[in-house]
Amino acid sequence: MTAIPELVVKDLTVRFAGLVALDSVSFTVHPGTLHAVIGPNGAGKSTCFNVLSGVYKATSGSVHFGRRDLTTMSPHRVGALGISRTFQNLALSAALTVEDNLLLGRHRLMKTGIVRAGLRWPTALREEKKHRERVREIADFVGVAHHLNIPVGGLPYGDQKRVELARALCGEPRLLMLDEPVAGMNATERLSMAGLIVSVREALGISVLLVEHDMGMVMRLADEVTVLDFGKRIATGTPAEVQENPEVLRAYLGE
Ligand code: ADP
Ligand code: MG
Repeated sequence: MTAIPELVVKDLTVRFAGLVALDSVSFTVHPGTLHAVIGPNGAGKSTCFNVLSGVYKATSGSVHFGRRDLTTMSPHRVGALGISRTFQNLALSAALTVEDNLLLGRHRLMKTGIVRAGLRWPTALREEKKHRERVREIADFVGVAHHLNIPVGGLPYGDQKRVELARALCGEPRLLMLDEPVAGMNATERLSMAGLIVSVREALGISVLLVEHDMGMVMRLADEVTVLDFGKRIATGTPAEVQENPEVLRAYLGE
């Protein structure tokens, strides 16, 4: 496997007309660790994600992945560096099958396009077969292989969230970014998704950046936690450390 670079976020600031969504936020995701960004609603978690994945532009500050400067990169180029993400609200193509959604997740890795495969060039067909096999492996891993030929829109919500995770994994990431992976799930689905995130880390050894509102979940999974409140970083530390931090307790209780 290629080495996992460190993700360094430095003094990141994002302003929307009249509102500072992120105010000089810094943190580092160390290689192979699970780093959680938590905070009350509106704290700036999704904004932070959107800047890291190239969807929003930072007003100031920088983001580096190893030696690469991601600060102004497009989502496409960020993906090409091996950073995949999921969305807080599902961003799958509901009418397409699970398999086709997952193949879309492999797009950046495909040398020959659909057109060539359509023309049945032998190399294109071999490549397509390889991708379909890998898609099946990943679907199996996250527990959706039995749904491969079903349109995503017809699946229960918890399964759709798994497909979303599978699609991110199909990009063969070195850094996996998950935006509220258990949002909207019941207690059983939450536990099973948490277990899946742990297995992904153990099996792949990649870095994970997890944005989550649910403190309990983060405390069980994270190596390190950064807490945001009103766009500012109010704490970084181990789960045990931030849990005892008076400012963190105030942010959560004062919600
Ligand atoms: P979180 O994910 O922690 O709940 P967000 O990052 O979604 O928080 O939002 C942080 C703040 O930025 C909120 O006040 C939100 O309304 C604002 N915000 C987020 N995206 C935009 C946008 N595209 N335009 C204007 N304001 C935004
Ligand atoms: Mg959010």
